[in-house]
Amino acid sequence: MNPIRYEPIRPKTVLNPVKAASMPFDWSINPYRGCQHGCSFCYARSTHAFIGETADDAFRNHVFWKQDAPDVLRGQLKKMAGRLPPYVAVGTATDPYQQLEGKARLTRGCLEALAEYGVPASITTRSPLVLRDLDLLQLMPGSTVNISIHTLDPDIWRTFEPSTPAPRLRLDTVRKLNEAGIQAGVFIAPILPYISDDESSIEALLAECAKVRAAFVMPSFLRLSTSEVKSWFFQTLRQHYPHLTETYGRLYWGSGYVPDSYKQPMRERIRRQLAASGLSAHEPVGKGNRENQGNRTSNPPEPSIGPVQLTLF
Ligand code: SF4
Repeated sequence: MNPIRYEPIRPKTVLNPVKAASMPFDWSINPYRGCQHGCSFCYARSTHAFIGETADDAFRNHVFWKQDAPDVLRGQLKKMAGRLPPYVAVGTATDPYQQLEGKARLTRGCLEALAEYGVPASITTRSPLVLRDLDLLQLMPGSTVNISIHTLDPDIWRTFEPSTPAPRLRLDTVRKLNEAGIQAGVFIAPILPYISDDESSIEALLAECAKVRAAFVMPSFLRLSTSEVKSWFFQTLRQHYPHLTETYGRLYWGSGYVPDSYKQPMRERIRRQLAASGLSAHEPVGKGNRENQGNRTSNPPEPSIGPVQLTLF
């Protein structure tokens, strides 16, 4: 892999409105563009193309950071006095606790700004670095943390997530956050058909979620929504699971979503497993509804299927 390049950019805004009605939040913050974690399934890979970068490994090794993001955010929040958002989703596109955050502290700075204005955050990450900011989160009532974990299998993990912290560390993060009074749950995201979807693997992951007292568990299936994302994912698949290339070709032919023929029975099975595990798969969603505040997987959720507790599934 090429050495990582970090490049500052000067953002005009940091708090951005989310226009898509299907998204369970109205406002989001992403202090970074690109993500050093470099997951093969990352849907945000295509966003690199928006800034003239290639969507291949440049997404992982050319990371842009938003200079003065906390101050830009403060300026925006000041102008929004009287109509502040009920909460803000942090890390909707790229991981706000990727490696650079350890030094750059942009996410921490943004949380400080939100705390000053009394706006809670819903954070999504694959990194235990979020624990560094526990002190701030405790000053932000109503804030939640969603830890994404797609498998416990060490080979599958490293194949598809070349540089994320170990799943066990992430589970421990969920435990510590909940013990510290911050509502934290697990996004099982994304479930990879015929790779990480077998009954025993899901059962083992749910058992671990129960052990760390995850406040909720939200599963979602792999989505390959753009040609850039699809082509990068297939590259990994061809290299490590060549026998599945044709199967995935059929599953994702002409669509970013798995077909109902795969999804429905799988969903029913996982629903039963969730019920048996005693975990809550509540809907942490609802624009303008602070009781059901929005969260998001690193791979975005599929459209609602009806029952409240599995709306994101
Ligand atoms: S899925 Fe999340 S952690 Fe992985 S590369 Fe994308 S933004 Fe980073």
